[in-house]
Amino acid sequence: SAAKFSPAQPPTAAPASVCVRAPGKINVSLRVGPLRPDGYHSVASVYLAVSLFEEVRATVTEGPGITVTVDSDGALQVPVKDIPLGPDNLAVRAAQALAAFAENPTGVHLHITKRVPVAGGMGGGSADAAAALVACDALWNTHLSREELAGIAAGLGADVPFSLLGGTAVGLGVGDRLTPAISKTPLHWVLVASDFGLSTPGVYGALDSLREEGQLQAEEPEEVDPAILAAMRSGNAQDLASVMSNDLQAAALHLAPGLADVLSAGERLGALAGMVSGSGPTVAFLAQNAPAAAELAAALRAAGHRALAVEGPVSGARLASAVAG
Ligand code: ATP
Repeated sequence: SAAKFSPAQPPTAAPASVCVRAPGKINVSLRVGPLRPDGYHSVASVYLAVSLFEEVRATVTEGPGITVTVDSDGALQVPVKDIPLGPDNLAVRAAQALAAFAENPTGVHLHITKRVPVAGGMGGGSADAAAALVACDALWNTHLSREELAGIAAGLGADVPFSLLGGTAVGLGVGDRLTPAISKTPLHWVLVASDFGLSTPGVYGALDSLREEGQLQAEEPEEVDPAILAAMRSGNAQDLASVMSNDLQAAALHLAPGLADVLSAGERLGALAGMVSGSGPTVAFLAQNAPAAAELAAALRAAGHRALAVEGPVSGARLASAVAG
């Protein structure tokens, strides 16, 4: 009979619990335009997703509503005390936004395991949002396309679409207009975390002030330096080291002068180049290869830093496991 061949679980049944991993990012290149009348800045950025993953486990609850808990894991020992556990949490906002597209959104509990430094310039909160979108999409059987998810992601924050996409991409506009870029060979980096966070709007504001004081004219960035994309395409770390740059670095150093010591320590200990990631304060050092990155991370740890070797590109938010309901 037909029943003999039907699986115990119909294939379309929603799982009761799913776990999704989403990567943090570094900006290999970040050009920032002048303050626009709408209060935003145009950017031209090369995003790289790196092997430092946030995890969001989404579990169906009996009652309605969305709840969230957070803990932390991993070598960077990320403190989580400043993360909001209410409707302001980016993962909760993501689940809420997706619920509008679900026929039968159940109550859900989100448990976030943080590895990406909070307010660290690596888009950790954005990764939580991207992971929550993919998790709830599976949990609620929403079956949105990647494009539809990206549309919701863009409404949640400029970096959320990239954490969904992963890999390497050029970001224009406020960073949300993404074009995937080619990079075949993995690049090896060492991340150094700080004991403090920097507010992204605060760092952009400091950049505007520095430019005003120095009477520096910033231009609207229309495209990224082709030399960056060529170096990413060939996977040549040496070439990339000579062209990677971040317009926000001066502003981050202005707000947190101690980062200059971190940068010089990494370079002294053998990094090809170092730079502040996004709005900082996390610093990313480029290494020649995997053994060089491991050695640099060990040397930085011996010098008292919280350092971790990672590689990129890695894929965007994706299902790690699911448990049937
Ligand atoms: P970006 O590089 O995208 O500008 P960031 O990595 O510097 O961001 P995040 O860690 O993403 O900074 O978060 C910035 C702020 O957002 C935090 O200070 C925190 O108050 C708030 N926030 C809301 N939800 C989360 C979350 N799930 N994880 C971390 N921060 C969150």
